[in-house]
Amino acid sequence: MATQITTGTSELRELTKIERIGAHSHIRGLGLDERLEPRANSQGMVGQAKARKAAGLILKMVQEGKIAGRAILMAGPPSTGKTAIAMGMAQSLGSDVPFTMIGASEVFSLSMSKTEALTQALQRSIGVRIKEESEIIEGEVVELQIDRSLTGATKTGKLTIKTTDMETIYDLGNKMIDALAKEKVLAGDVIVIDKASGKITKLGRSFARSRDYDAMGADTKFVQCPDGEIQKRREVVHTVSLHEIDVINSRTQGFLALFAGDTGEIKSELRDQINTKVGEWREEGKAEIIPGVLFIDEVHMLDIECFSFLNRALENELSPIVIMASNRGMARIRGTKFRSPHGLPVDLLDRALIISTKPYEQQDVEQIIQIRCQEEDVTLTPAALAVLTTMALETTLRYALNLISTANILARRRGVPAVDTEDLRRCYLYFLDEKRSVQWLKEQQGSLVFDEINAEEDGGT
Ligand code: ATP
Repeated sequence: MATQITTGTSELRELTKIERIGAHSHIRGLGLDERLEPRANSQGMVGQAKARKAAGLILKMVQEGKIAGRAILMAGPPSTGKTAIAMGMAQSLGSDVPFTMIGASEVFSLSMSKTEALTQALQRSIGVRIKEESEIIEGEVVELQIDRSLTGATKTGKLTIKTTDMETIYDLGNKMIDALAKEKVLAGDVIVIDKASGKITKLGRSFARSRDYDAMGADTKFVQCPDGEIQKRREVVHTVSLHEIDVINSRTQGFLALFAGDTGEIKSELRDQINTKVGEWREEGKAEIIPGVLFIDEVHMLDIECFSFLNRALENELSPIVIMASNRGMARIRGTKFRSPHGLPVDLLDRALIISTKPYEQQDVEQIIQIRCQEEDVTLTPAALAVLTTMALETTLRYALNLISTANILARRRGVPAVDTEDLRRCYLYFLDEKRSVQWLKEQQGSLVFDEINAEEDGGT
C-alpha cells in the first residue's frame, strides 16, 4: 500500500509554543563560559560546578548532532538541581533541537501501552529539519474560472496569469480556489502565489513589475526562467518532530490530535513507512535528522519492561539522548524483587554516563534564594535572607523557596516593602516541612485514617 507521507508543516506553523512559568523559570542556561567552565553565578545557575560542566559536555555532544542513543543518569539527593540542570540544557539547545520532558509515571496511562507512551516520547525528541523550495509567482489575473461539482464540495478551475511576457494557465484544486476566494481575487488583480504553502496574496489592481518583495521574507533570490516568467525561489526550512509526522499521517488521528494532545496509539507499519520516507529525504538532501533530548524525571518509577524497552530503543539509529534523573539510593526495580542502585537495572546503569549532584553549601543556597527572590519580585531584608538560608540548610531548599511567596503575602499585608524575619517565622509555623510533618504524624498516632502500611506492600523501596 503506497501511502503519501506529509510533514504537515503548514499546519504546524500555526501551533504556538507556550512557555510555563514555574519553579525553574529563573534558569536561562547552564551558566558556562566558552571553554565550558561553570561561571560562579550565571544564567540563574549557581554551584553544582562538576555536574554543570558534565552537562555542558553532553550538550556539546547533542549540538554536534552526531551522537544518538546515549543514556545519562543524573543522580543525587532531592532538590540538588537535577531538574534545574536539565532545564538549563534545554535552554541552551538551539530552538530547533527538540527537548522533551516527562515524569516516569506519565508512561502508565490508560489510553496506550507503556511502550507506546515511551516510543512517542522518544519520537518527540527527534527533529527532522526539512528543506523545501518554494516557488513564488507574481502576475496579473487575466481570467478565473471555477467549476463546482453538483454537491459543491469539489471545485476545479482554471486561472490564467500574465507574467512578464507570457500568459500561463494553471489548473486549480479546492485548496487554491478557497485561497483565491478568501482574498476575493478577480480578473485584473495582481497576485502572488507561494506554491509550497498555497498561500495567495493580492497586491493590487495595477500590474507593476518592480514590486517590493521585502515583505515576503528574507533569503530570496530571483531567477530568470527559460520561459520568461519572473519567479522567486526561496528555501524554506522547518523542523518538525518525528512524532508530529507520525500523528499527521495517522489516519485515525490527523493533525488536530496534536492540539488536543490525545494522539492515541500509532501503528508500527505507519512508523516504518515514515522512517523509510524520512530516510529517502535524507538521501536526497531534503531532510536532516536532529537527535534531541528526552528527559525522564523520577526514572525509578519505570518498571522492568520499560527499562528493557529503553535499553533496546537506545540502540536504534533514530534515537535521542535520554537523560534520566533519580533521587533514590538502593531501591527495588519496579516489577521485580531485586534491588539495584537508583532502582535501575544494572545493564541500563552500565550503559549510562552518571552525573552526580551533591547537597549545596550555605553560600550556594543563599544565592539560589536571592535569584528566586528576584524572579518572584520579592525583597528580603538582610536578616530575613540569613534566616531563610539557615531554614533551607536545616529543612530543604524547596521548602525554603516555597516560603518566599507566602512570606511576601504576609509582608504586603503588614504594608511593608520587604519580607522580614517575623514573616518567615509565621510562615514556618503555618507550614510544616517534611521533618516536622513526620514528627507530627508520630504524635498523632492512631488518629489518622490508614496510617499503617505493611513493609512488603510498599515494595521495600
Ligand atoms: P528532586 O530529586 O526532588 O526532583 P531536583 O534535584 O530535581 O530534586 P530541582 O527541582 O532541580 O531539584 O531543584 C529545586 C529548586 O532549586 C528548583 O526551583 C531549582 O530551580 C532550584 N535550583 C536547584 N539547583 C539550582 C542551581 N544550581 N542554581 C539555581 N537554582 C537551582
